[in-house]
Amino acid sequence: MSDMVFCRGCGKEIHSTAKACPQCGAAQSAVGTKSRISAALFAAFLGGFGAHKFYLGKIGQGFLYLIFSWTLIPSIIAFIEFIIYLCNSDEEFARKYG
Ligand SMILES: [Zn+2]
Repeated sequence: MSDMVFCRGCGKEIHSTAKACPQCGAAQSAVGTKSRISAALFAAFLGGFGAHKFYLGKIGQGFLYLIFSWTLIPSIIAFIEFIIYLCNSDEEFARKYG
């Protein structure tokens, strides 16, 4: 039961991927399944190939990065996204990408 978490509202055990508690309906926004730091590291080191987009499940965008990787523009955008990921709190990140 390693991927169970406790509801932030009522404390009932719910699955970690649940967006809301089935018991009380409390939103579990801070319980993101994606790690902000991992996404930031992917963006920093493999961002030019869209690795962070694939990691976050944005496959279409990831392929765009991959296709245009030779222009180095994705590397620049990825670097900006790396900064954005670092500046977000875990809660903000989970709400946007989790
Ligand atoms: Zn609950």
